[in-house]
Amino acid sequence: MKRYYFGIATIAILWGMLIAPVKVKAWSEHPLLAYPVLSSIPDLVKQKNIEAQSLKAFLIKEEAGLAKILKQYEDWAILNLPNYAPLPSELYFTPTGNPDDIVLRFLTAIRLNPNAKLRLYLHLLPNQGIGDRQTLNPTELTTLKDVSIMLQTRYVELKEGELVSPLDVLCTANDEPDYGFDLGLFEDNNTDYGKRYGFGPQPFGDPKLEYGSQAPFHMGFYHEAKIVYTFGPFLKHTYPEYRISLFKALSEYAFSTGNPYWGWRFMGWGMHYMGDMSMPYHTAPLPGMSAARMIWINLKAILGFPKSKNNAVQLVSNKHSVLEQFQWLVVREAYNNYENSALIAVLKENVPVVPYNNDFVRNVATAESVKRGKMVDKALKRYCPPLLVKDPNFEASKSKELDNLLNEIRAFKGNEGIEQLMSLLTEMMRSYNMYLKSYYVSIVSKS
Ligand SMILES: [Zn+2]
Repeated sequence: MKRYYFGIATIAILWGMLIAPVKVKAWSEHPLLAYPVLSSIPDLVKQKNIEAQSLKAFLIKEEAGLAKILKQYEDWAILNLPNYAPLPSELYFTPTGNPDDIVLRFLTAIRLNPNAKLRLYLHLLPNQGIGDRQTLNPTELTTLKDVSIMLQTRYVELKEGELVSPLDVLCTANDEPDYGFDLGLFEDNNTDYGKRYGFGPQPFGDPKLEYGSQAPFHMGFYHEAKIVYTFGPFLKHTYPEYRISLFKALSEYAFSTGNPYWGWRFMGWGMHYMGDMSMPYHTAPLPGMSAARMIWINLKAILGFPKSKNNAVQLVSNKHSVLEQFQWLVVREAYNNYENSALIAVLKENVPVVPYNNDFVRNVATAESVKRGKMVDKALKRYCPPLLVKDPNFEASKSKELDNLLNEIRAFKGNEGIEQLMSLLTEMMRSYNMYLKSYYVSIVSKS
């Protein structure tokens, strides 16, 4: 019996590395996707401008009420979120009246990276002008060291009390969780806060890589075969449901107490994780691979033959990069032809919305995404050059082939390749649209 458990434990540990070089993001630049979705909600567009409010000002004003609502949230999460890691009691947000450490106390109570910058700012879309605002360098917004992708976007500073549209606040906040919110939160990430947050060791990925540590918060693996969880119990430790429900509770609280700026900003943060669930490589560790094969390649690795496992890891990482890059390139292109773009039209579509509830992420969003993942994986293998999706000796991310992806696909399969992938992306974007609207409706209907 003991040996059996030892076997499972070994497999579990080794398997942890199965999804080692996980990507940081699901979709690149969420506001490009969020804007068409949100600007098609008439009630939202009609909203009056609101005053920007710093986090510190909001917290000082609402300290007592937040302490209460966060305690209620914690009690709820323990009862309702499967595999939730309870908040250690010493991190509970307790009103002390001390403004000097209030931001830190709050960030540790919601278990975010305490170095998160959380400035007052706007993320401009490709067609939005700077006006008379000051631009901000990405390094003032993110804790990440590599800001290369952010250099393509313009960010402008907001001043305390400055009037701003709820739509802009919401779109801006949709990207923010990728700016370091969830980095270093596990006890083996070599951060002082990770040791205190109660999430235990990083469930998968390499804990030494700065980027990888956010993955368990932006990925939700809820639909693996039972046997896969038996051999890899760490796969149960993913936390998008926690983030989504926590930011929903905070958003509703902010609205109900007359702090609309934070109502919209918290809502946007939650939407980010909702949007991530429409990315198939964020809802299954190895989309398209059977449970039996996953277990088999892992067993071989344990027996000293890691090649199949390493290859699978590299290939899934490459396909993830390819899909993300494809989305980003075509969406950026769509902004050049915004009014006539079919992709933008899908994001604006008045889709039938499944009402949000506590199981939405698990039973609606990720269920759909996992199902689609198999098709997406097949299509990528069929329509993209083998070097990018079938060669485990090739690292796709940061390659010149990836930079030039649309031409690579055209050269390999002509326009058919682009069209087939576009039609799958269109389906993913329709889901993205629906998830955001469902979340939106669930929050505004309460305020
Ligand atoms: Zn994300």
